[in-house]
Amino acid sequence: MRKIMVSGGAGFLGSHLCERLVGEGHDVLCVDNFYTGGKDNVQPLFGRPNFELLRHDVTFPLYVEVEQIYNLACPASPIHYQRDPVQTTKTSVHGAINMLGLAKRTRARILQASTSEVYGDPEVHPQTEGYWGRVNPIGPRSCYDEGKRCAETLFFDYYRQHQLDIKVVRIFNTYGPRMHPNDGRVVSNFIVQALRGEDLTIYGKGTQTRSFCYVDDLIEALVRMMASARGFTGPVNIGNPGEFTMLALAEMVLRLAGGKAKLKYLPAPEDDPMQRQPDISLAQDKLGWAPKVALEDGLKETIAYFRKTLAA
Ligand code: NAD
Ligand code: UDP
Repeated sequence: MRKIMVSGGAGFLGSHLCERLVGEGHDVLCVDNFYTGGKDNVQPLFGRPNFELLRHDVTFPLYVEVEQIYNLACPASPIHYQRDPVQTTKTSVHGAINMLGLAKRTRARILQASTSEVYGDPEVHPQTEGYWGRVNPIGPRSCYDEGKRCAETLFFDYYRQHQLDIKVVRIFNTYGPRMHPNDGRVVSNFIVQALRGEDLTIYGKGTQTRSFCYVDDLIEALVRMMASARGFTGPVNIGNPGEFTMLALAEMVLRLAGGKAKLKYLPAPEDDPMQRQPDISLAQDKLGWAPKVALEDGLKETIAYFRKTLAA
């Protein structure tokens, strides 16, 4: 059993990861400043002797003793990361420096939760890890996209310069229970709107595409990446290659959630990528991983979760 730290552990993905690691008997330190996450996400773990929660902002140094670090701290939804863009860049960049410094001192293995946003609005489709991306460096999404790109740079410089044991995953859109109802991401927006009988907000024409991975599949991939052979650094794409337009997603949510909601068209956000689909050959080859949960099944679970949460 290992001493494992999860930064951003009280968020959507972090809380599922903490739950998995605590369940496996590891000694888990969840570090979070509650910017977008909350104690309620990890509340079921309170009282477990192998779980600890620390309020801390990763833009400041942290001195703890750990063997593995999952660096997930960073707001992930566009409305959240654009609310305080300077803080978003600081979280990605200063956060990475502090977490890498901690890994260097403790010689811990460290995994970075990077993102498909490093590909920007891609001209290569589906996206492979070898593609360098097409990212606007000065737009409203840049704090997140460029912050995450710089974090990857730092990870690989610590690897080359200090021989750190790094792992980098590029996560594509992931959804599931414990997404925040006001998170602003498309899956949670559509489900919450459908359950409240409000019109579903389609940004632009709704012909832009995304590939949606269910949270359980994603967590399995993170754990496998952390356990992979030393020297396999990634970056490795993690996501579900099924590709859907936002219109198709809206229709599926309406069908599964029931109700009489209609579609409402709103202007497309600036720099909104038009297409997104992971090539996951590398993950299949190196991690023996592929997603198992179809979008329809994952949506059913997520709708059931939101139905309960909204009723409460
Ligand atoms: P989330 O917003 O639910 O979780 C992020 C967590 O980080 C929150 O608990 C938040 O309070 C915490 N945090 C933010 N700034 C912090 C700081 N300065 N110090 C300490 N904690 C801080 O988002 P999520 O969907 O769980 O995303 C987790 C990670 O995965 C992020 O790094 C995100 O960029 C990455 N990611 C997620 C997706 C996705 O679809 N969910 C896709 C690509 C990448
Ligand atoms: N989107 C939408 N309606 C919404 C929220 C999002 O049509 O209520 C669109 C958005 O413009 C984008 C896609 O859904 O094209 C995915 O958006 P999200 O914020 O979930 O993730 P990201 O853009 O970071 O992939």
